Amino acid sequence: MTPATDWTIEDAEKLYGVSRWGGGYFRIGDNGNLQITPDPGNPSVRIDFGSVLSEIQQEGLQFPVVVRFHDILRAQVTQLNTAFANAIEQSGYRGEYQGVYPIKVNQMREVVEEIVYAGKPFRYGLEAGSKAELLAALAMNTNDGSLTVLNGYKDEEFMRLALMGRRLGNRMVVVVEKYSELLLLVRLAKELAIDPIIGMRAKITAKGRGKWESSGGDRAKFGLTITEIINATRYLKDEGMDHCLKLLHFHIGSQLTDIRSVKEAVSEGAMIYAELHRMGFALDYVDVGGGLGIDYDGTASTSESSRNYTMQEYVSSVVQGVQEVCDLEGVPHPGLVSESGRAITAHHSCVVTQIVGEIRTDSAQVDTAACADEHILLSNMRDIYTGLGEQTNMQAAFNDASRYKEQALDAFKLRVLRLEELAKIETLYWQIMERLHHYYQDADYIPEELQEMERNLSSQYLCNFSVFQSAADSWAIDQLLPVAPLTRMDEKPQVSCSLVDITCDSDGKIDQFAIGREITQVLPLHKLRAGEPYFIGLFLTGAYQDVMGDMHNLFGRLNEVHVFCDDEDPQDFYIEEIVQGSSVKDVLTIMQYNPQAMTSDVKRMIDKQVAAGQIKPREGVRWNDFYEACINGYTYLKPQK
Ligand SMILES: *Cc1c(COP(=O)(O)O)cnc(C)c1O
Repeated sequence: MTPATDWTIEDAEKLYGVSRWGGGYFRIGDNGNLQITPDPGNPSVRIDFGSVLSEIQQEGLQFPVVVRFHDILRAQVTQLNTAFANAIEQSGYRGEYQGVYPIKVNQMREVVEEIVYAGKPFRYGLEAGSKAELLAALAMNTNDGSLTVLNGYKDEEFMRLALMGRRLGNRMVVVVEKYSELLLLVRLAKELAIDPIIGMRAKITAKGRGKWESSGGDRAKFGLTITEIINATRYLKDEGMDHCLKLLHFHIGSQLTDIRSVKEAVSEGAMIYAELHRMGFALDYVDVGGGLGIDYDGTASTSESSRNYTMQEYVSSVVQGVQEVCDLEGVPHPGLVSESGRAITAHHSCVVTQIVGEIRTDSAQVDTAACADEHILLSNMRDIYTGLGEQTNMQAAFNDASRYKEQALDAFKLRVLRLEELAKIETLYWQIMERLHHYYQDADYIPEELQEMERNLSSQYLCNFSVFQSAADSWAIDQLLPVAPLTRMDEKPQVSCSLVDITCDSDGKIDQFAIGREITQVLPLHKLRAGEPYFIGLFLTGAYQDVMGDMHNLFGRLNEVHVFCDDEDPQDFYIEEIVQGSSVKDVLTIMQYNPQAMTSDVKRMIDKQVAAGQIKPREGVRWNDFYEACINGYTYLKPQK
């Protein structure tokens, strides 16, 4: 098939918005394949997704697969640190930036390792919010002079680990989330004679806008009120530990959509810092938390899946906001810390899944030829169909067809219509809808009822993956994630479809797509061709999605490939590592099954049938091997070759 001539790469770009959400890393190549430029500073390194797909297939790896571009992680770390360095220089800010990466956003060892490595020249550190994360941070943060910021609720062990870190020469900041933690920390610090670095999280009244706005305000789960902050400073002074108080922290929520809330929170936080300074507490750092957003829908707006600012604008707002307050209040500029997680990791990974089938309401048909003494509803429906033409009032045809279909169903329930007649009516109904769809295809205006019809006529593409494992936020909080084909974008996509996954759960679907500035329920994709696998990508899954997935229906973790770019390589990349996803055995074991015992149990059943002469011994061995191979295999579908 030759590509339609009235379709260009620009049209594909407009439809899929690749460069709007791609952060400079993704574009559509002239061959219609998605291309990745992992280092925006070196656009000559360009990876073709078609080649990545071939290599994954050559490796014999089964889909779905998570593809990680390590160079994008590095580039994002560099970009954030450079943005701060630039803003600090341009504003004449007299303090440094020392960011930390919050482990909870993507805890995968390879991800954390890459970020620490890329952050070395910037003294970039880690943030931990739980004991397990703290244990990881203690071992992983090897960057000289960097901070390790400890948020979240803490127990005695947590505090002891932090003090142990101090003993090992690490700059661990214990951020007090709740007043009683301060008492615990001071007691342990004295007992062990180790000076802690203390931070305080302030409850800020400025609220973030977006899905996470309850992270700020009076009812926030974390942080000290102004009264508690004052009491804490008095307590530290009384205990002779006021010199340990070094950092003021606040975090008003993730994915801040509006730059105004960033500015409000920063100036409120800076004001508290300045006031503390005047009270004699010379803090070293102001930590503005996370919240730097990602433009998932490509609209650069305050919609929930977007944000109305760039990374550089965010950074400048932080630097200038703190500077302004400090200059006004006559206090020194503090060191700046931020805890951006989403912004560092979102772009670096995507989920590649194969479409394994198409589901259409109208795909089945029966012969609708008239026969003697058929029901009048059937004749009426056929009359509409055969009467469709230039002169037809389409709206009336739609209304009549819909009414006859409803009446037919009632008639069937009353046993005056036979099942075969109902099937004929249904077939004719969908044939009429198909014709109407054709008629309205290029119309400027489509009557409201008919829009519903469009959706009913759309296909559902069955994707070999689980929304619950790979796109948790899409299911849980309606987070929009960009979807695009990986190849064939030089062809006009002709199938409007929504996506459904392979779980036995009606919620396992994706039916929200950003097309231009609109959110639609269907996305145009390409027709499936026999014998040719069709792959789509779910993008910007590197933050949260990668690690928050659950095992609904016992679909486990995905196979992973780690792609590195290499200018010397003819294809500009190599796959450094393949990480096997969960096997059936793995997920069953987590749920307390014993796969070995299960295999023995099934073998006993087979042996019994063999003994009874129902199954030949050779066949018994084959069934046994097959069961064992499946239990050791991948949890996802194996598409037909
Ligand atoms: C979750 C969290 C972050 C990360 O937020 P992002 O919006 O992903 O950058 C930072 N700090 C704290 C305290 C958090 O809870």
